[in-house]
Parts: sequence; structure tokens; C-alpha cells
Amino acid sequence: MVEYKQKDLQTPVRYLKGIGPKRAENFAKSSIYTIEDLLYFFPRRYEDRTNISLIKDLKEDMLVTIKARVLAKGSRQSFRNRRFNIFEMAVSDDTGKIPCIWFNQPYLKDYFQVDSEVILHGKVERYGKILQISNPEFEMVSEDNAEVLSVGRIVPVYSLPPGLSQRVFRKFIKHVLDEFLPKVNDFLPFNIRTKNNLLNLAKSLLEIHFPQNLDLQKQAFRRLCFEEFFLFESLLMLRKSAKVGKQGITHNTQGNLPKEFLENLPFKLTASQKKVIAEIAYDMARPQVMQRLLQGDVGSGKTVVAVVAGLMAIQGGYQVAFMAPTEILAKQHYEKIKSQIVNLKQIEICLLTSSIDKKEKERIQQHIREGKADLVIGTHALLEGAVQFKKLGLVVIDEQHKFGVGQRALLGQKGISPDVLIMTATPIPRTLAITLYGDLDISIINELPPGRMPIKTFSFTLDERKKAYALCKEQLDAGHQVFLVYPVIEESYLLDMEGAKKMFEKLKAGEFKKYRVGLIHGKLKQPEQDGIMLKFKNQELDLLISTTVLEVGIDIPAATCMIVEHAERFGLSQLHQLRGRVGRGSAESFCCLVSDSQTAEAKARVNAMVNYNDGFRIAEEDLKIRGPGEFFGSRQHGLTELRIANPLTQMQLLKKAREEAIKLVQLDARLALRQNLALKQKLIQRFPEYEKLMTVA
Ligand code: ADP
Ligand code: MG
Repeated sequence: MVEYKQKDLQTPVRYLKGIGPKRAENFAKSSIYTIEDLLYFFPRRYEDRTNISLIKDLKEDMLVTIKARVLAKGSRQSFRNRRFNIFEMAVSDDTGKIPCIWFNQPYLKDYFQVDSEVILHGKVERYGKILQISNPEFEMVSEDNAEVLSVGRIVPVYSLPPGLSQRVFRKFIKHVLDEFLPKVNDFLPFNIRTKNNLLNLAKSLLEIHFPQNLDLQKQAFRRLCFEEFFLFESLLMLRKSAKVGKQGITHNTQGNLPKEFLENLPFKLTASQKKVIAEIAYDMARPQVMQRLLQGDVGSGKTVVAVVAGLMAIQGGYQVAFMAPTEILAKQHYEKIKSQIVNLKQIEICLLTSSIDKKEKERIQQHIREGKADLVIGTHALLEGAVQFKKLGLVVIDEQHKFGVGQRALLGQKGISPDVLIMTATPIPRTLAITLYGDLDISIINELPPGRMPIKTFSFTLDERKKAYALCKEQLDAGHQVFLVYPVIEESYLLDMEGAKKMFEKLKAGEFKKYRVGLIHGKLKQPEQDGIMLKFKNQELDLLISTTVLEVGIDIPAATCMIVEHAERFGLSQLHQLRGRVGRGSAESFCCLVSDSQTAEAKARVNAMVNYNDGFRIAEEDLKIRGPGEFFGSRQHGLTELRIANPLTQMQLLKKAREEAIKLVQLDARLALRQNLALKQKLIQRFPEYEKLMTVA
């Protein structure tokens, strides 16, 4: 075993006192591997326990913190249940006394000493005639008051790794802060910090975990968010500066292949599609590398645009890689595109995902190596080292928000500067898009193909659920299909899974007995998920009960109705994505949002869904509704590089970070200046795949 004498921030947590291999495994489940990860594992929320109450003022039902002296203590077995231990302790301050009681924690008997001072936090209860506090949280008041972590202060509450209590976890954090904060080196250049009023890093880490007051907590949070934005924007700017004038492929976009393809399609392109194809063609024909983001609402027809771009590359003898975020989507693209190009001569199209068996995979990989495969559609499997293109000319990435910037770079490295087209169905207001995809050019499809009817959206309370069911049955009886969506929240993942499952059993046997009901959720293995999706697509199922795995673009034209349960738990953009799963055929479609939430925000979201169909419009509403000031959480923006910062609610901060990043890269494009060295190291650590950007002279 390696002995870590000289521990630093990159030392694995298992070398900390009190964390063995077992615990380290649990920490890993929360993505905590190193000491730095622990420092950056921020509280989910806080509890203000700063106000110390006087015992004389205590009343039933109050949640209080008191500071008192131990008068007497004793431990006994419960009268009713012999195995049940009760530990009691009487405490007093200058104003009165009160008993405290703990169940089944016999060891406490030795923990507290008569006459010592303690801080207690808990709820005041009435027991017969007297008041008492049951199972309060406690801390000893020692000389070193910094030791008091759980009471008498603003207390952090974490989303704990398995097998730990808040109390123990706080101790770990405190220990790590004490030992390692002196080793924390602030990588944000000093002038940027002062100019933007940012706390230094060590102070921020301290205040985010154990804030002295809520104002300092806010400042710490602001600094840590700035840091994320700044690293991210710096990366974008470095990429941009490296790209300027970079030699790419000059595609011949004028050939016949795209034309033939378009003539074979059963529909005509929309004006928007034509416009973006022209933009893409212009880029591809230029000698510079293309890095273009194609935005378009769900169902706006991005795939066809990508295929046309692909054919422009293929006709010149280049290969095209088309990456989708899930197997289902990759397969759907593969089948659809294959059927669309059958009439075109000699194009080899293949599908590469991880579930394809080994022999077939090797055969495909060989074809890719030899340049026989023209159009390769796949998932992350395309990123594997064994996939080597002979002559990669264009990379298409679908549903960009499911991939990180890093992955997008990996695929780009598989050819000699191929052109890159990134597609996203998450409409982002233009101002925000420029900040988040600052290194990309942007094309927008802003209309849907003709003949699409807007999806009628209704809001129902829980009591009105029957109405939603009635609408479903109407649709089912007309031969259409229906989705029923349940939320999943990270924290009680299993519980919610039970929700979808339970409802499946219940509805299958009751309300929807007449119909063929299926269930799909994220805990199923990918092939199982695919199987169920396929059954639904082939209309072997009528009703599909699902969690949010539906979110990304599968195309099921016969599905005309969706019920979203607990609609209040979804973000607005997510609801819009989900709704995009219906209304893909020619029949009128419906979306029922069932919720009972009374918060103004939840209502506003539901209203926006009822009133608007246009994704860009909805994105703007989303911004308005969320407003500033949302705390942690919300990974909805889907940018994997951002963990706590939220571009939707912190636009101003993001703008500042971006301005600083622009200046930084203008002055020091290789981050070679001394004051930028720490920053450079941090960037390399955070985005290792970009080391080249910063080191090549
Ligand atoms: P998305 O932008 O969500 O990826 P798709 O590319 O999957 O949308 O297109 C949605 C559906 O619309 C597909 O079935 C596609 O064949 C069809 N489609 C695309 N363009 C047109 C068009 N111009 N006219 C009619 N249908 C179209
Ligand atoms: Mg799509």
C-alpha cells in the first residue's frame, strides 16, 4: 500500500483518518474520490441554529437550540419493552431546567458528564404535564468552540453518501477544512478577484460549509459559481483562439448526392431548413474547420439537415460520424436514415453501439478503418479507441446537452480536423447561447414542418385526474397510443421508481385493464429499455408508463397523448422536451399536466406549458420564472461542466466571468504568464483532454 505521508488535495479520501476502504466506497457513490472532492461537496441546504433560547421561554412544538449545564443523567430499560433503552438527562441554564431523552443510544450515558456544558437542538414536546426534548442533536461546549458543528450556528445539511450521519459527515468536512485549507491555492488571478469582489478560495470553502452568517454564505456561493463559469468560459476562449484560422477540410458541397436525396424525400424542406443547410454548406466549403451549433425545437427536422451535410462530405470521399446520446436514438436514426438513402447508390451506413455483439462490432470497426463505412451512426461507443476512421470529414452530434464539451472534443480528434455539427433541441435564448457555446457558430431552425397541429395542453389537479384518464381512453379507443410519465428525483430515486412501478401494477389491473400496458424506466438495462420501446413503437403496447427516460427524441408517430404526473416536479424545459414526444404524426395531440402544487412558480410553469408551444418562447419564460436566487441543485441546463452554477439564473455572473475569460485569453493565449500558472494547472486538471490547447507552442 502506498503511504501518503505528504497528503495534498489530490490524495484519495481513504487515506484520511476514519475513512477505510469500505467507507471510501460509499464516498465514491457520491463521486467523492479525493480530498478536493470532499471540499467541493457542498451542503444541500442549511439550518439556522444560531439563536440560543432560554429554557424559561420554551413552549410545546418549538424547534430550539439551548445552551445548558448537565444536572443529572440516568439510563434505564423501557417498562414495556425490555430491550428498549432510554437515556435521560436533566439540564439547566440560569432560567430553568428541562429533561432531555434519547431512545436506544445507551452509549450516551458515558458521553455526557454531570456539570459539563452542552448545546442541544431539538423539538420541545409535552409529556404528560412536563415539557421535554426528545432525541436532540448535541455538542459539547469545549474551550475550542470551533468544534461545535451541529448546533448553535448555521448548520450545513448534506446529501449524504450511504451509511453516514449528518453529524459524522460534518466532522469529516470540518477535519478536512482544518487540515487542508492552508494548502488551498487560489487559482483565480488576484486582479480578477478584487475587480469582481470575490472571496478567496479558502475563505469561500470554509463559508460554504460552515457559514458564519448567511451573507457570507452567499458571497462564498457567488465566488464558487464564478469559478465554475470562469473555468468553463476560459476553456471556450482557449478553444476559440486555437481554432482561428485552423486548416480544415474544403468539402465540395455542390455535388449531386444531396440533391438526389432531397428529391427522394416524401416532403419538401421548410424555409428554415433550407437556410441552415446553406449556412452549413458555406462553412463546409471553406478551408477552415466548421464548429456549428444547430438549434431547433423538437420535431423541427434537424436530422434531415444533418443527413444533407453528411452527404456533402460523403460525395467527396469522406466518412461521417453521427453520435446520438442513447442506443434507442442511435437505432432510430440508423433505421430512418437507412430507409431514406436506399435509393442512393453505394452508401454504406452502419450502426455502432455497445450492445452490438463482438464479432459484428469488429467487422464494423474494420470497415470504418478501411474507409468502407461512409456513414457511421452510434453512441458513446464511437469514442472508443478501437474506432479509427480512415478519412473522417464530418462529425454530427445529436442532442448536445447530454454530452459534455470534453466528449465533443474527443470525437473531433478522431480525424484530421473534421467539421463538426452539433444539434440540440434545448432551445436556449440567443444571448445565453452565445455565452455557453461561445466557441461555436449558431444556426437556428425556427419553424416546424407544415401541417403540424399544436399540441393541446391541459392542466389538471389530482382530483381531476379522471378527466385526463378519460381523454387517454378516448385516444386509445381511436387506435392511438399514450404515454404516462412519472418523475424521478435523485434523492429518493428508489421511492419514485416504486411510484411508476406501483402505478403500472395498479393501472394495468384497473383503470386500463382493457389495454396493453408497458413499463419503462432508467433502472432497466439498455437492451430491455430498447425492447420495450420497440414494442411500443411497433404498436404491440397501447399505453407506456415511463420515467423521464423518454426525454430524448424518440419518434413515435402514433402516440397522441401524454399524461405527466407531478408536473410540478419537472422544470419547464424538461416538460417541453417530454411533450415533444407526442404530436409527431398527423393526428391532433394532447398533453395533460397533473399536479397539485400551490407554489406560484409551479403554477407559472404549468401555465406557460398550457399557453405556449414554441420552445424558444418557453425557454424565455423559464428564465423569467426562475429568476435569480435559486440555490443549489438544478442540473437542468445539462452542462456537465457546471455543477453548482446555473446559467439560467446567474446570467450576470456568467457574463462577468466570460468578459474576464476573454481578456485573459487575449493577453495570454497559452497561459504562460506567471500569474496564470495556477489557473492553467487547474484547467488541465479539470479538462485533461485539452492539455494540448495550453501547452503546444
Ligand atoms: P428533430 O429536430 O426533433 O430531431 P426530426 O429530425 O426527428 O426532428 O424530424 C421530425 C419528423 O419530421 C421526422 O419524422 C422527419 O422525417 C419529419 N420532417 C423533417 N422535415 C420535414 C419537412 N420539411 N416536412 C415534413 N416533415 C418533415
Ligand atoms: Mg432529433
